[in-house]
Amino acid sequence: MINVKQVHKSFGDLQVLKGIDLEVGKGEIVSIVGPSGAGKTTLLMIMGTLEKANSGKVMIDNNDLSKLSEKKLADFRNKNIGFVFQFHQLLPEFTALENVMIPALIGNMKQGAAEKKAKKLLAMMGLSERMEHKPAELSGGEKQRVAVARALINDPVVVFADEPSGSLDTDNKAELHSLFFELRSQLNQTFIIVTHDEQLASITDRTIHMMDGRIVEKISD
Ligand code: ADP
Repeated sequence: MINVKQVHKSFGDLQVLKGIDLEVGKGEIVSIVGPSGAGKTTLLMIMGTLEKANSGKVMIDNNDLSKLSEKKLADFRNKNIGFVFQFHQLLPEFTALENVMIPALIGNMKQGAAEKKAKKLLAMMGLSERMEHKPAELSGGEKQRVAVARALINDPVVVFADEPSGSLDTDNKAELHSLFFELRSQLNQTFIIVTHDEQLASITDRTIHMMDGRIVEKISD
């Protein structure tokens, strides 16, 4: 499903990724943990096509990302990749329902079909009663659940989440954990989640440890 081979990345003189190899199978939920500055977000951005590696290869669903033109890459990203960020990044002027529908409409899904699907996903997130609300009228946990629904609307090959619980208080964190726990049994959806949240990492199928630009067996102090 996802195959990363010897990925290197530098920003100027700073070597951030020093030869990353990683394979993730279909339906797997993988967490990436490690100290700040280890390169976790950079790796996520490269796998998510938002950043380019200096060398090495990333394959997603048998597509070699380095072989796609910018235009094809943007299309590939919208169709195959979902994102959930620490700060939900919902569009404030649109309702929850509209926010979830937007990537489907960009992908040329018909309005009616997009609405039906968005409603189904919002129901799965426990948000049927909240979908006509705008982001400012939703709690932090609700906004993150809308962001998860939005990430799932185009049936992506993979969803990348960067600190999805990072901005939430304890109660909202617990809610997001149980959501991921439920999604694990309801969907055969691949998720790759960068997190400092140990509880969230503990409910994933596998945890990858990163340190100083490398994947390591365990974080040594
Ligand atoms: P982590 O997610 O593990 O905290 P990051 O991947 O965010 O680590 O960052 C790794 C290192 O790369 C940090 O030292 C960070 O400052 C640097 N870095 C990340 N993105 C950029 C960028 N766009 N330009 C320059 N340096 C960057």
